[in-house]
Amino acid sequence: MKVGVVGCGFVGATAAYAMVMDGVGRQIVLVDLDRQRAEAEANDIMHAVPFSHPMSVVSGEYSDLAGCRVVVIAAGVSQKPGETRLQLLERNTAVFEKVVPQIAQHAPQAILLVATNPVDVMTHVTVKLAGRCGIDKSRVLGSGTTLDTARFRTLLGRQCGIDAKHVHAYVIGEHGDSEVLTWSCATVGGMRLNEFQKYRDIHIGVAEKTEIDQKVRGAAYEIISGKGATYYGIGAALSRIVDVLIHDQRAILTISARLHDVLGLSDVTISLPTLVGGQGVISAVPISLNNEETAAFHASAAIVREATESLNL
Ligand code: ADP
Repeated sequence: MKVGVVGCGFVGATAAYAMVMDGVGRQIVLVDLDRQRAEAEANDIMHAVPFSHPMSVVSGEYSDLAGCRVVVIAAGVSQKPGETRLQLLERNTAVFEKVVPQIAQHAPQAILLVATNPVDVMTHVTVKLAGRCGIDKSRVLGSGTTLDTARFRTLLGRQCGIDAKHVHAYVIGEHGDSEVLTWSCATVGGMRLNEFQKYRDIHIGVAEKTEIDQKVRGAAYEIISGKGATYYGIGAALSRIVDVLIHDQRAILTISARLHDVLGLSDVTISLPTLVGGQGVISAVPISLNNEETAAFHASAAIVREATESLNL
């Protein structure tokens, strides 16, 4: 199976490396405006193949994406000093206006997986641009809060003394400051969190919840202040999403997708638990939030909507 990565900076290259480590796909094609960088990354990652899985990693042109089942889009520009968020968004939209039609032309069957931040807005932009090339919105998704959900499950599992695999707890909304940790529907081993706490005599009160919330919400800031960028976590998350897509795993992931009448919202692109399979986005999974979470989710959606509307697509 062939997978493309367009934009192989930190995030794109790490996603390709994670796919090699996980044995996801058989051929990876790296495309970047900086051709030398793409070639160097492909060669470097290819040197990991003898120690991992039999795959090929090459650099190429857009035409080399022909036949890809999934194309990860991690292309983008970084914020210039003094640049506003909107100016950055406009420059990244200009990048996507060049990138998306070329992917659609050469790999019309591919599912587009967006990683560029702000990921919800860039996924919305991709839905619009891909739609003009005949690609249905179900074939466009963003990494959304997949990584935030994984962090939430890990920290909650640690607090409960349970492997995170048995913890189901979702982070929804914007991938960013306004994201919402849905404590009210968290389950551990199939039990509601408060029942599990009683059963194991564990206390998870306001202080513990606030600490977990801050660790999930602030994780990227903390990492960026220490090393300037985040890429290992998101690279692994992208590898997992690609695996679900190419093997039709029908997993529930908090990817970012264009919503159609969910929780009173439509035409906004944000994360909710979503059934994902070989054809892309199948449907958002119903989630019953308490009043506070519903209000926070709507506020988060309003932030993303405001940013997308400001672009006048
Ligand atoms: P991140 O940390 O998000 O990965 P980087 O700046 O490291 O950010 O990577 C972004 C990548 O996107 C760079 O390698 C850059 O060359 C690439 N890129 C920017 N514009 C385009 C474009 N129009 N087409 C393809 N790749 C692009």
